[in-house]
Formats: sequence, structure tokens, C-alpha cells
Amino acid sequence: MPEANYLFSVSWGYIKFKRMLNRELSHLSEMSRSGNQVSEYISNTFLDKQNELELPCALPKTRERKRRLQQQQPIQQQPHQGGMMTQISGVKKVSHSSSISGSIGNRFGVKTDQEELLSKDLEDINKWGLNIFKVAEHSQNRPLTCVMYAIFQERDLMRTFKIPTDTFVTFMLTLEGHYHSDVAYHNSLHAADVAQSTHILLSTPALDAVFTDLEILAAIFAAAIHDVDHPGVSNQFLINTNSELALMYNDESVLENHHLAVGFKLLQEENCDIFQNLNKKQRQTLRRMVIDMVLATDMSKHMSLLANLKTMVETKKVTSSGVLLLDNCTDRMQVLCNVVHCADLSNPTKPLDLYRQWTDRIMDEFFHQGDRERERGMEVSPMCDKHTASVERTQVGFIDYIVHPLWETWADLVHPDAQDILDTLEDNRNWYQSMIPQSPSPPFYASDGEESPLQEGEDRPVASKFQFELTLDEQEGLGTEGCGVVVDTGRDGMETATQDESSAET
Ligand SMILES: [Zn+2]
Repeated sequence: MPEANYLFSVSWGYIKFKRMLNRELSHLSEMSRSGNQVSEYISNTFLDKQNELELPCALPKTRERKRRLQQQQPIQQQPHQGGMMTQISGVKKVSHSSSISGSIGNRFGVKTDQEELLSKDLEDINKWGLNIFKVAEHSQNRPLTCVMYAIFQERDLMRTFKIPTDTFVTFMLTLEGHYHSDVAYHNSLHAADVAQSTHILLSTPALDAVFTDLEILAAIFAAAIHDVDHPGVSNQFLINTNSELALMYNDESVLENHHLAVGFKLLQEENCDIFQNLNKKQRQTLRRMVIDMVLATDMSKHMSLLANLKTMVETKKVTSSGVLLLDNCTDRMQVLCNVVHCADLSNPTKPLDLYRQWTDRIMDEFFHQGDRERERGMEVSPMCDKHTASVERTQVGFIDYIVHPLWETWADLVHPDAQDILDTLEDNRNWYQSMIPQSPSPPFYASDGEESPLQEGEDRPVASKFQFELTLDEQEGLGTEGCGVVVDTGRDGMETATQDESSAET
């Protein structure tokens, strides 16, 4: 197929798919003020506005205009990172030489006086629902280093790729030191959680022996670096404030590009190159895969990832032993991108006590961003206003529109492996639904099923779950590049770099 047609068909199914969500979201936003805020949050976060054509938009036009005006505010001066534009900001010297030399002999690579407790926590390393908060507590707040250590031990990756233990520990402590401990959610605890969740998803029986060791190494490494040096504000905030990072990456997946740059740059620090014994081809393949996976964690790529996953489910082939047949690199990359993305969106699928702690953290981070926006006289982003945000409604909306459609599709792909995860997700959704403060007057439903118009200030609970129904013919042609993320210009010709290189592994 000629390239132009191919591109057209890729975006056409995708656009239809997004249009459906847009329609649902504008309906939600008409239901109540808090529904509007939830809808705006989802629409701003999970729909890719950068690549959008003329689509009906959930946002009222005046808001959109106001937002555009804000983008024209004077450039905000950031402290100079000291030097050339080519330098990667955020890379700093971390002094942990004493903790490294003291850590090498330790069981999980970290110095702790609570090793017994830590070792008990890490017995759950292969379980969905490992208590990562306890791991942090018992590792002197080095959850990423010790979870990664345990995973690499479990999978024998240090031996397979000849990674010296001291190099591994040095790199992991350096990486962990570049996560911001003063950021409420996007700190090394979240990275550890995503790495461990990725580790579990890769072990799902339906994917048994599907991935090469190099692909597994790449996925777990990608999860570990995927939010490094996160400043605790969103891409849109960085763009709106004309930050150095947004300028550097031309507003496209600003944070995700930065996480990758920092993650790879840290490999060059002293005794940090954990890939030193990989051959050139392995290193190239790994790098390409990691780039695809981390870029796919940009939440604005969610819809296109999900659309591709749907296609995979509808065309899935299973071997006689019940394992998924993924016989080409592109399909495998798509699954890997979705694995990391699912792990990144796995909080609501975890035991409720863990999920609630994550919710507290993300709302903390959002409110902090909201405070900064208010201080600057900017419009406060949806869900970031501590005075008006509805935490419970956000979680229900987030699950109904984003998390459940994704996990349901994942569960279809690996059926029946993810049934427990899906059950927990549904229980958690119902718990948050039950916690929504009741509005004084219950919603009235007319006999024809039409909802009555709302009074000013009246809230109506999100009534039913929205399910995606996407048929194969609607998304024909989707997702045969990279991991299926519909990317903007600039990366053409690089999309297929991971193809035909699975044999690179020795
Ligand atoms: Zn993340």
C-alpha cells in the first residue's frame, strides 16, 4: 500500500476510536460540574491533542481560547543548567560511594538494618500486590534498587547478560537517586512498582517463552527508568510555562523524552554501564525497544495503544499449548509497550489498601501543581484544584474510561490469566463509587431513559460503565509500526528499527 494511504488508514480507525471517547466524555461533562472536571482531566491527559485533526472537543470553546492565550505568556526563566543546549539537564553527581561499597555484599543491594523484614517483603516479588510501601520502609527508601535486584536475581538476568553485581548496584542507586523524593507520586517508589508489575505481567502463562531474554531485559529496564527526574508536573504544565524541557523537546512527549535521555545518560556514569557486556547489535536493539516503550508511557498515546491492543485480541492466534503466537517483532513490541503501559496504570488493580495510598499520592502531586498554577495566575488544571476536585469521582471516571477498557482488553489477550486482576479492579471501582458523597437530591431519570437537566451545582453519579466496542473493520490497518503509537512527524524511518532484530540476541 502506498505510504500516504497507509498513514490515512492508520489514523482513520484511530480517529473513529477517539471520537467515541470524545462523545462519551462530552456527555459526562454535561452531567455535572465535577463530571465536567473529570471529563476535562481525562480528555486533556489521555487524548493526544498534538496530533488531532478537526475533532469534536469536550471542552467549551471559550476555555480552549483562554488556554491558548495562556500559552502566550512571557517565557518563564528557569535557572540555567550551566552550559550548552546539548547537555542533558537533571543529571547530577550523586554521592553514594559509601552506600555502594557498603551495599555490594548485601542481599538486595541496599544497606539496611532491617534485612530480615525486607527479605520477608520481597518473598512476594512474584505476586501482584507485593507491598512496595513496606519494601521502601525496610530498605531505607531504596525500593527501586532492591526490587530490581530481586527481579534480576529471580530471572537470572545478571548472569545471562554478564552484568557485574557492583555495576548493577551502582547504576540502580544512581538511577534511584535521580528520582525526586520530594515529589509525591512520581518518585522511585512508583518506578519500583511499575518495574515489579511489569515483571509479573511478563510472567503471565499466556506469554510463556514468547519473549527473548533481551526483550525482557529491555521491558524491565524501561519500567525502571520510565519516570526518572520527573519534576511532579505534567507535560501540559511544562508546555504552558515555556519550560526548558518543553523547548528542548518541542512540546512532544516532553517528560518521556527527558526520562529516556536521563536514563541512558546515567549508564555513562562511572561503573554504571550495566549493558557493557552486550554486543553492539544487542545494545542497539535494546535501546530502540526501550525508547519505544518509554515513549508509549506518554498518557496521550493511550488511545492508540489500546486500539492496537484491541486489534491484537481480535486477530490473536494461540499455539497448541495455549500460548500466544507472536511471530513477528512488531507484534511483540506492541505487547511489550502495552505491558509497561498496563503496569503504569495498575494502581487501581492492586489490593485496596495499596491503591488508596497511590491515590493519596497522585492527588497530592496534582494539588501541588494546582497551587503552582494559582500562584502564577494560570488557570488551574482539571483535578489539580484542591478546593474543588472530587477524588472519588475522579477514580471512578478514570477506571471507567481509561483503566477498565485497557485491563479488560489485556485480560482478553491473556485469557484467563488476568481474571483476578480484573475482579479486584471492579471491586475497587465499586468501593470508590460507594464513597462518592451523595448529592442532596437524587438524580431523576425520565421514563424514556433520558436524564433530566441538572440544577446548578447538582451532581449526578456516573451511572454506568462505558465500554468500548470497536470492530475490526473500523480499525483496519492499525498498528503495524513501532509499538503502534501513532506518532507525529520526525521519527519516520525509525519506526521499524526493532524489526527483524530478535535474532540479535546471542
Ligand atoms: Zn509512570
